[in-house]
Amino acid sequence: GGHSLIAVRVASRVQQRLGMALDLADLFHKPELGALAELLRSATRSELPAIAPVARDRPLALSFAQQRLWFLSQMEGVSEAYHIPKGLRLKGELNAQALQRTLDRLLERHEALRTRFIAVDGEPAQHIAPADIGFALQHHDLRAHADPGEGNKALQRLTELEAGEAFNLETGPLIRGRLIRTADTEHLLLITMHHIVSDGWSMEVLTSELSALYGAFSQGQQDPLPALSVQYADFAACQRRWLSGDVLQTQSRYWQRTLAGAPELIELPTDRPRPQRQDHAGASVEIEFDAAMSAGLKALGQRHGATLFMTLLAAWAIVLKRLSGQGEVVIGTPVANRARAELEPMIGFFVNTLALRLNGEGSPSVAQWLQHTKAQALAAQQHQDLPFEQVVELMRPVRSLAHGPLFQVMFAWEGQDTPLPRMPGLQIEAQELPQTMAKFDLTLTLRERGGCIQGSLGYATALYERETIKRHVEYLRCIARAMVDNEVQEIDRLDILPAAERHKLLVEWNDTAVEYPDNKCVHELFEAQAALQPNAIAVKQGERQMSYGELNAKANQLAHRLRKLGVKPDERVAILVERSVEMVVALLATLKAGGAYVPLDPAYPAQRLAYMLEDCAPKAVVTEAELWVTLGADLVKQADGACPVIDVKAQGSGGDGESIADATPALVEVNPHQLAYVIYTSGSTGQPKGVMVEHDQLSNYVNAVSAVLDVPHGARYAMVSTFAADLGHTALFPALCNGGVLHIVSRQCAMSGPLLADYIEREGIDLLKIVPSHLEALLQSTDRPERLIPAKRLVLGGEPTSWSLVDRVRALKPGCTVINHYGPTETTVGVSTVRLSDVEDRLSETPAIGKPLANVSLVVLGEQLDLKPISVAGELYVGGRQVSRGYLNSNQVTAQRFINNPFGEGRMYRTGDRARVLPDGSLQLLGRLDHQVKLRGFRIELGEVEAKLGECEGVGEVVVLAREDTPGEKRLV
Ligand code: AMP
Ligand code: MG
Repeated sequence: GGHSLIAVRVASRVQQRLGMALDLADLFHKPELGALAELLRSATRSELPAIAPVARDRPLALSFAQQRLWFLSQMEGVSEAYHIPKGLRLKGELNAQALQRTLDRLLERHEALRTRFIAVDGEPAQHIAPADIGFALQHHDLRAHADPGEGNKALQRLTELEAGEAFNLETGPLIRGRLIRTADTEHLLLITMHHIVSDGWSMEVLTSELSALYGAFSQGQQDPLPALSVQYADFAACQRRWLSGDVLQTQSRYWQRTLAGAPELIELPTDRPRPQRQDHAGASVEIEFDAAMSAGLKALGQRHGATLFMTLLAAWAIVLKRLSGQGEVVIGTPVANRARAELEPMIGFFVNTLALRLNGEGSPSVAQWLQHTKAQALAAQQHQDLPFEQVVELMRPVRSLAHGPLFQVMFAWEGQDTPLPRMPGLQIEAQELPQTMAKFDLTLTLRERGGCIQGSLGYATALYERETIKRHVEYLRCIARAMVDNEVQEIDRLDILPAAERHKLLVEWNDTAVEYPDNKCVHELFEAQAALQPNAIAVKQGERQMSYGELNAKANQLAHRLRKLGVKPDERVAILVERSVEMVVALLATLKAGGAYVPLDPAYPAQRLAYMLEDCAPKAVVTEAELWVTLGADLVKQADGACPVIDVKAQGSGGDGESIADATPALVEVNPHQLAYVIYTSGSTGQPKGVMVEHDQLSNYVNAVSAVLDVPHGARYAMVSTFAADLGHTALFPALCNGGVLHIVSRQCAMSGPLLADYIEREGIDLLKIVPSHLEALLQSTDRPERLIPAKRLVLGGEPTSWSLVDRVRALKPGCTVINHYGPTETTVGVSTVRLSDVEDRLSETPAIGKPLANVSLVVLGEQLDLKPISVAGELYVGGRQVSRGYLNSNQVTAQRFINNPFGEGRMYRTGDRARVLPDGSLQLLGRLDHQVKLRGFRIELGEVEAKLGECEGVGEVVVLAREDTPGEKRLV
């Protein structure tokens, strides 16, 4: 075994000098000797001086790394995250005595393995036990288990116990082991060290010495190993002396300069919110690149003078950059940090961690990125002596218990694979030990074995699901392939998506096609209900109500009137009425007449109303006399003239004399691509814009959402919002098109918790559509809030919802299904839904907005219209049948927001909403991209109303809730 051991040592030593990445294989394959010479030159730096033994009669200082780990364990308790385990399966005749002697000898040989840590006045010192202390190997015999299942369980219990048991730094020992006999000629040897006396390299030393010692002892020979000239405590003392003055300053300056202003937390999309306190539970997923890909990566690196380590680091950094959306990433990487020959055969905590900062801002080419990665890696290695702990102290990051300082993602390159020990008479296999601890959020560990790159991606199970990590591995594979394929490509444009995931995002999760056979317009759907049940109540408002037959007749009459006034396809009819039965008559009449309604809420500021009237240039205005008298003075300037004004309540003018027959088809054939309505957006940025929605878009919405609402025929729907926004359309049309009863709740009632609760209870409301903040405010202001919740469906929409509201509602009325409904006006009321009350597995912090409605597609894209992977934030785009025609009188803005679908037919609307696709295919909103805040409603003290309103910008609705002594009101600001 001696020969292969030396080869490994030499490789490691070169690695050490030239950086962890440059191993022997690279040296021999490197085509450009010039580049190599440069590497060698740049690798010379001030080095640790020769290490001399220090006296053992004084307290022995800890190395910097030990000190840090000791402090951490004082603060957070000893953590399993710092266990370094090894498992070996030994088949054949084991000489137990020789093994025991071997282990005893290892302890005798390495002081580190006999060290414990005792603090005097808060200052820890190393205490070294006598050389003959021996290794307390625990023996277990599982042969007695007749049932192999039982035996396996016992073995698993022992393995878990060995892995999980806490070490005690003060009492020691900090190395332990178990020898488990599973059969006459089969043993499992488990050895665990604490990181404070060991590291990965130390484990290699231990393994090779195990071979040498067991080999000798089992054959009656003496210890063949050359004596160690110094011990770990000598190194610690030397490190403390050397790393001061100029050396310290140069290295400190480098790290300070390099890491200043780096992002402190990589914002990777996790499956679960980050716990307040970092949770170290972990698991891992295997990685293997085939020989061709591995060779391709090697060749790519060689063309750019980069080692395989650097090439893989570059690829991994691209994945992280793309997943986080951050321009820069900081990745930790371990370096062996054994800068002198005498340190190489030692067991102890030497390994250091370098925080590599990589800046991919401006999307460099693959070739440039490799150069950058190489430069950063080499520079970091030049300054590798400053312990990471000190770098942390220098940088003073905002300390958080939730994540590690400076970086949260690790890349460990193990170079060549470690050989297994050789023990005469025994066949040895590595026992894979489950990785159950995660020091970091993600740890990529790679090595080369037999020409293939392989390893694992470890992850914190508090943050990630296994499926997500499997996807990450595929992203790495895709990026690596794309780098090999095209080294002049920009890194932001490399294809990161595996074909299967692309298919899921584009096709499977948008497989929403549904045919609505008769494809009727909404007023036709309503007419069908009117024919079916003319005497059923269609609409109720306070004491007033109207049957389907009456409503249809009234709407027909007004439709005739509008036709006579010359209303034609795509022409607008402004409707300025209070929330009332007449409002419904006017909407239906406009549709029947083939025109497009423009709902105007009389409560809106006169200026805004005037603007909308001017902008929509209506063919007619339908209003009420009293309203027109009070508001008209301002508005008439714009709206009058050529434009007739109809008083919907006055005898005659509402069309009482007109035919009550169905207006269609007798009156006018409506083409599905004609406008149904124009609704103005709140216009918090600039002027309000009129969104033009066509019949086909509206009827798709009504059919699709009705299927999701799934309430029985004749159910009672309540509309509590203004009809000048499309929010209320979720109740309005599904009620009228499915034979339900539409309750138009007055503004006053909608703003008082007690009044609305009375109403909902008394009328037996089945479905309510409401904005979450409005509902929250109402719930606060009533004694028996359960009465506010409808019997069957509560539809929340218009703004983000919280789990706490969902829980509240569920507790108040378990029988009511809570539905979250999302959508911009530009894509016709709503495009996605989810039944929140059915969601058991709450992986995301905020409730999802669900999946697309029928004939709608939802995708999350980047700035280059590139499809974002699952979980990754981008902008939400809506495609399909509900994408509206665009903005009235605003072709330019329409062209900006409505684009051709790059993945298929039709157009897409860019919502300006930041979103991501969750692993189950539903969508989650993450805020606005334009930072535009939607003020739908908020809760404030009555006394503060005026002051708060003064802070508002743009146009919005403010609900002031009724209290005992004050009536509610709704104001527009
Ligand atoms: P509007 O066009 O006025 O209907 O506003 C649409 C915007 O309101 C969306 O682009 C979202 O920003 C927000 N929004 C609507 N519904 C929801 C919802 N269910 N959850 C979160 N935000 C929503
Ligand atoms: Mg809306």
